[in-house]
Amino acid sequence: YQIQKTFSIYTGATQGVIKCPNQQCHWVAEAKNPTDRFQVQCPLCGYEFCSLCNQQYHFRTTCQEVPEITQRWFFWCNTERGNYWQARAQQDANFRAQLEDYERQKVVNERRNEELRQRYNDLLADETFKSQNCRICPHCRRVVQHLGGCNSMICGQNYHGGDVQSGCGRPFDWSKAAPYVPIANRGPQQVKTKLKAPGEQKLVVHKDVQCDTCHNEVQGIRFDCIQCSSLTFCEKCEQRSTLEHSNQNRDQQKQQHVFRLIPAPIEEKRGIRSILSFFFRK
Ligand SMILES: [Zn+2]
Ligand SMILES: [Zn+2]
Ligand SMILES: [Zn+2]
Ligand SMILES: [Zn+2]
Ligand SMILES: [Zn+2]
Repeated sequence: YQIQKTFSIYTGATQGVIKCPNQQCHWVAEAKNPTDRFQVQCPLCGYEFCSLCNQQYHFRTTCQEVPEITQRWFFWCNTERGNYWQARAQQDANFRAQLEDYERQKVVNERRNEELRQRYNDLLADETFKSQNCRICPHCRRVVQHLGGCNSMICGQNYHGGDVQSGCGRPFDWSKAAPYVPIANRGPQQVKTKLKAPGEQKLVVHKDVQCDTCHNEVQGIRFDCIQCSSLTFCEKCEQRSTLEHSNQNRDQQKQQHVFRLIPAPIEEKRGIRSILSFFFRK
């Protein structure tokens, strides 16, 4: 992914633009590497965002994955966590303490779940808007809105040539560009809770992956924060630890972070972080 992006710099001669997604803010800058995904902090309003999707910056995930991860996290916190521990405790009495802990923590989780519900509703509205008004730039894969004019677009500019959204600065034909495909609402059943009989049930082990709370090797479902560069919890710690994380972010007036559920071990990809370079526009 990273290598491909680095090569595209040499083929594209046009400068791209990055615009602060905060509607009240007018910060715009030229970017040397507009097809790369990097973290931007707006020097005017302080807003932190992803250079490609304008959302909260996310680590170890592509922009395309974020909506589904967000949806899954909401389903997990809202209903699936309870179902999961119920199923586990039914299979194996050792998990009963975990289920009891879940029941005790239910009330303190309500506020977080309410915030997640709000966020999820915003996400669905955003997905609908994008599927109706946006297409994908074939060069940088940005979700681009057509702001009027003919079908020949320059990614990041409207038809008068003004910079109104972030873009890579390369031309494409709107009528041939791929439409934005929104996430499907597949309901909470997507978290696999079907466990085998106690005898044959093997707990998945995520080799060499350590939980940041209990420092044990992660077993069962692994939880990674996608807005922190490195934060992982095991399934036994995640309820308390993700709640604590959520409270910390709220205290700092930051948006809640989203955790990715990883049921099976994955190969770690260590991409080289792209170097950000900006020039202020006159
Ligand atoms: Zn700004
Ligand atoms: Zn992004
Ligand atoms: Zn583009
Ligand atoms: Zn743990
Ligand atoms: Zn985080």
